[in-house]
Amino acid sequence: MPAPHQAATRVGIGYDSHRLVEPGPLLLGGVTIPYPRGLTGHSDADALAHAVIDALLGAAGLGNIGRLFPDTDEPWRGADSLALLAEAWRHVADAGWRLGNIDATIITEGPRLGAYLDPMATRIADVIGAEAARISVKAKTNEGMGFLGRGEGIAVLAVAALEGS
Ligand code: MG
Repeated sequence: MPAPHQAATRVGIGYDSHRLVEPGPLLLGGVTIPYPRGLTGHSDADALAHAVIDALLGAAGLGNIGRLFPDTDEPWRGADSLALLAEAWRHVADAGWRLGNIDATIITEGPRLGAYLDPMATRIADVIGAEAARISVKAKTNEGMGFLGRGEGIAVLAVAALEGS
């Protein structure tokens, strides 16, 4: 990936989903939410952190989370996804990019996340050294449709904008 052009702006999209299983709690954006079920996966399965990582890496043209942290790699088993986010951000920043903004939508039938959205944004902002105002985290249901509607899992969509220095 060549160095970013002067004043270039690029955007990236990230998507992630993980299965909900007993027991909880639920971890999203580094925030622990009391709930009888939590997300399962190779790492700590923090789908918000993973979607944000993919959005950032995509915007920088640096691939995706699976390329940076292969799930065949033992060190990433149970990994703290905010540590993965910090490492991914280091790659992006080292390539000369500054954060424009991140916007994410969590799709889940439960639990209600309203009280946790600002704390998630703050955690993400802290990890990448950005102002909290540059991070937006929202939540909505899937209107009862499909695997998300049945509560089998949680999905997250994220976009990130990066600015060249
Ligand atoms: Mg994931």
